[in-house]
Amino acid sequence: MLHLLRQVVEEVNSTRDLQASLSTVVGRIRAGMNVQVCSVFLWDAHVNRYVLMATDGLSAEAIGKVTLTQNEGLIALVGKREEPLNLSDATRHPNYHHIPGLGEEPFKSLLAVPIIHHRKVLGVMTIQRSEPGRFEDTEEAFMVTLSAQLAGVIAHAEATGALSGLNLMGGEQLDVRFAGVAGSQGVAIGNAHVLVPPSDLDSVRYRPARDINAELVLFENALAKVRSELTATRERLRSELRPEELALFNVYVGILEDRALGDSVVELINQGEWAQSALATVMRRYIDHFESIEDDYLRERAADMRDLGRRVLSHLQASVPEVAIPDHAILVGEEISPTVFGDLAAGRIAAIVCTTGSANSHVAILARALAIPTIMGVQELPWQGLQGEELVVDGYRGHVYYRLSAEKRQYFETICKEEAEREADLESLTDEASETSDGVAISLMVNTGLQTDVVRSQNKGADGVGLFRTEVPFMMRDRFPSEDEQAKIYRAQLEAFAPLPVTMRMLDVGGDKSLDYFPIVEDNPFLGWRGIRVMLDHPELFMVQIRAMLRASLGLNNLKVMLPMVTSVSEVEEALAIIHRAVLELNEEGVSVTLPEVGVMVEVPSAVYLVKEFATQIDFISVGSNDLTQYLLAVDRNNPRVANIYDSLHPAVLKALKMVVDAAHEGGIPVSLCGELAGDPLGAVTLVGLGYRNLSMSSSNLLRVKSVLRQIDSDWAHTIASGLLHLDDPKVVRSTLRLALRKAGIPLTDIGILPS
Ligand code: PEP
Ligand code: MG
Repeated sequence: MLHLLRQVVEEVNSTRDLQASLSTVVGRIRAGMNVQVCSVFLWDAHVNRYVLMATDGLSAEAIGKVTLTQNEGLIALVGKREEPLNLSDATRHPNYHHIPGLGEEPFKSLLAVPIIHHRKVLGVMTIQRSEPGRFEDTEEAFMVTLSAQLAGVIAHAEATGALSGLNLMGGEQLDVRFAGVAGSQGVAIGNAHVLVPPSDLDSVRYRPARDINAELVLFENALAKVRSELTATRERLRSELRPEELALFNVYVGILEDRALGDSVVELINQGEWAQSALATVMRRYIDHFESIEDDYLRERAADMRDLGRRVLSHLQASVPEVAIPDHAILVGEEISPTVFGDLAAGRIAAIVCTTGSANSHVAILARALAIPTIMGVQELPWQGLQGEELVVDGYRGHVYYRLSAEKRQYFETICKEEAEREADLESLTDEASETSDGVAISLMVNTGLQTDVVRSQNKGADGVGLFRTEVPFMMRDRFPSEDEQAKIYRAQLEAFAPLPVTMRMLDVGGDKSLDYFPIVEDNPFLGWRGIRVMLDHPELFMVQIRAMLRASLGLNNLKVMLPMVTSVSEVEEALAIIHRAVLELNEEGVSVTLPEVGVMVEVPSAVYLVKEFATQIDFISVGSNDLTQYLLAVDRNNPRVANIYDSLHPAVLKALKMVVDAAHEGGIPVSLCGELAGDPLGAVTLVGLGYRNLSMSSSNLLRVKSVLRQIDSDWAHTIASGLLHLDDPKVVRSTLRLALRKAGIPLTDIGILPS
């Protein structure tokens, strides 16, 4: 059964033609489950009907022609109830709807299961037998499992199909929309530049060959290169290899010499496919075949095939010259690697679209700092086929559009224009005081990481740096920067803002912030080796970093040091010991630095309850609302599937924020907040209402926040925030805040809040 499941999922997964592959799938299920009929109906939103997409056992003529409304027959009933229907004799059910010409008459028993993806019914899958009698529980369970697996791939294949002109009902759709999570506000229109992970067979997608002969030559050359590489390696290592290892080389070379593999690829290329996807399709077939073999030894050969495939693919990819990222491109990919951070910082990128990640992934945070419209977690986007295509990114709503109609284009062009006007209006606030309408000063600081953040922040009139994410310069290198290199980077930040304070956070790697040269592979990275935990386990890294910071601050005295991911008081004590030692060491070396202010980030729930204890040891605390939200709500900030339940305005988070600010006041230490909540105008109003007077945010949000804060009264904000603490739903919190601002006469669009 597991084998059948795998085969079916693989079939749909690798499809270029959903309808064709569903025909294969129903055939496989019919044979594998020993039934007379298997059919798939999919819901078509264009015609508002279920359409028979594939059947093995009923009339083939009916495919694509038989359709049912959402109230018709047993199919509609299953779709409506969203649960399986297992009937001994379907014809006796009151909802049975006879369809002439479908050829259902001989079949009595019916099992129909809904195909549901992200709470949405995509269709219904049925199996039928002529003998009356309910299907076994195990059969029902299997079909439920199968449809759950199929749902994701059908959704993806539908989306892909829509783009390649293979959409279910035919006809070219306009304004094809893919939904993700809004990562950074703004709208951009531009051409896609696809970032493909190298040598990954699973990421290669179908593309028609521009020149079949050229693709054939490329493929033969790639094969020949791998063959000669392997032969050369074998000869070089012959004396050092064990016989079984040598045999493996022979197997590899043998596979490449055997024309079976090569011929299959050539056949696909001759049918009009480019070499990369032809190779990937054939290799996937081989891998699948080996994986399904019972024998352990042979099953392991699947890994060899994958390796071999990757080697050939890397040569094919090397033959395609790397296209430089054009100006004003929209970067599209599974994830955005630090290698393109330079292009992002240079302001050449119009927008970012990622198929993974969520609003508080670090890519999105970086994009917000640079004011680049960004959408994360567009899981269904068939990104590999988008190279060069024109896209529209709506970073307010988290939508990507493709094949834009004239009306939609005009709509988005107007938004772009209005945005530019709004930004220009906000510029006038740069030199105005950041205070509420009743004169309560709110210090607005910036979060930085890239060197270019400095200029952007100064242009916005920031009161200093509330969070310098030191991991960003670490991510842009291929090794840990030396003490001198770090000192230079830190000096540039400190000098740029002096005498304003710069809060430097000790390296916070782990979670979704990884360094290629220091990989941390864990099942549960956000609950694993992160932030201060890593640094305390590597005191040599801690020491180099703190020494670099202290040296950089010489003569400026505007350095503050912050510890990330603190869970316990003992971690603070250990970190303080290293910082004291660094000061001592440097003094002994004749560098007369003084102890900087040291603070703790409150971003782990335990820290919320330890603020008073911290207050006796350190100089300030800063709330990391991004992680605090993730850990309080148990929602991975990087996972688009649960993005809808990640909300820093959740009442539970608000209660924690209130506890922290009160405890800090009681403990007599300053408190700030440097998570993304501070840069959200609704969040900023709430925070001021809860008692926060120091907020740190992306520079791109600073003037928007200043604008709203200058229009509100602090007592009014206090009353509103106190009321929010009694609500029980984050959505109600947001609508209450919007309503309150509207009633106070503050136009929401002026502060970048579009109508929901
Ligand atoms: C936070 O967690 O809120 C924070 C500011 O840190 P980061 O987003 O870098 O984890
Ligand atoms: Mg954090």
